[in-house]
Amino acid sequence: MKRKVSPKKAAAAKPAAPGTPTRRSVAPATNPHSTDVFEQLAVHRHEQVSYWYDPQSGYRGVIAIHNTALGPALGGTRFWNYVSDAEALNDVLRLSRGMTYKSAVAGLNLGGGKSVIIGDPSIDNNERESVFRAHGRHVDALGGRYVTAEDVNTSPRDMEWVFAETKSVVGLQGRSGDPSPVTAFGTFRATQACAQFLWGTDDVSGKTVAVQGVGHVGYYLCKLFHEAGAQLIVSDVSAERTKRVADEFGARVVARDAIYGVRADVFAPCALGAIINDDTIKVLRAAIVCGAANNQLAEERHGDALQRRGIVYAPDYVANAGGLINVNAEIEGWSLEQSHTKAGEIFDTVLRVLEIARDEGIPSYRAADRLAEERVAAAERDKRLPHRI
Ligand code: NAD
Repeated sequence: MKRKVSPKKAAAAKPAAPGTPTRRSVAPATNPHSTDVFEQLAVHRHEQVSYWYDPQSGYRGVIAIHNTALGPALGGTRFWNYVSDAEALNDVLRLSRGMTYKSAVAGLNLGGGKSVIIGDPSIDNNERESVFRAHGRHVDALGGRYVTAEDVNTSPRDMEWVFAETKSVVGLQGRSGDPSPVTAFGTFRATQACAQFLWGTDDVSGKTVAVQGVGHVGYYLCKLFHEAGAQLIVSDVSAERTKRVADEFGARVVARDAIYGVRADVFAPCALGAIINDDTIKVLRAAIVCGAANNQLAEERHGDALQRRGIVYAPDYVANAGGLINVNAEIEGWSLEQSHTKAGEIFDTVLRVLEIARDEGIPSYRAADRLAEERVAAAERDKRLPHRI
């Protein structure tokens, strides 16, 4: 028999969990202090949660499958020293739901899932192999409904151990490889869509782009903007990395916190989450915010504030879907060229999101969520499933 959750209880769901903040698609799913698992699943209509314990290795893993209407639930494995099992459950529910939205809006035939391993991520390689092989058996037991990949504190090497136990894993060594170039390309196309929406042209030559974080994605993004004739302003905590983009692309380097207030047309966050917050919004001068960083909005209300200020915001999970597209190539058997073509479609998606936001007078992060929800609902209708998200 189905259990009903009182709307009051559902509304009382509070944020928690390590890592990051709230945007509707990755909003804290549940009350982290609740021990009622079915109540937690009901809040955002998760399909399944699976717990697995392996006494030999001490592996304790949780896999959450949010929605499989579009395809198998794909999402990485996070290794984290959660303070409680309830906190781990809250995190995995929140993250798996975010994956449903990300895949749906990117037009991929994937559902949303995620897994967490509870424990000390700094364990040595011997212990690591046993833990990840146990995780592989856990993934395999779900019979293909969930496909895993690397995430925070896990690596392609770890995924090889998972692969020894299951075929339901992507992001393996020597396969799709570093996702950063494809992510950067998708983010670049997202920025071009913002430019098209705001200035009526996708030509960014002569524009100034402020890039926060010139690591894997930021570097490739700088390259693309440089080749397109844009001027660059950059910041990073690593002087070596800023020097590289200064030398190669003529970027002007500014101090870490100065990047928010520089005079630029585009602000591209490519380092940290929660960088659109009460402090930074006040000083932002860019007309467009579009970058690869995850969870850029500290809270939903900061997305509302961007809208009020007339700043065009490309929702992060739409702009940075290139990483997911890259790894999806392993499932679809795509070439790098096909992944680039798919990442290029982010232009159309962002444009559509911005148009919906404008026409309906809603913030762009809500418009993106709506697009994702419509696609999932259509798939559920086709399969005659009840609408779940
Ligand atoms: P990375 O670690 O290679 O690069 C991040 C850079 O940010 C580093 O150079 C770091 O020194 C710098 N940094 C850290 N704190 C900073 C600060 N306060 N100010 C300025 N710079 C700072 O990571 P990445 O793979 O390039 O990913 C960047 C962001 O994009 C992350 O939020 C990541 O989750 C997200 N993302 C990445 C991919 C991908 O394909 N790599 C895909 C989707 C999303």
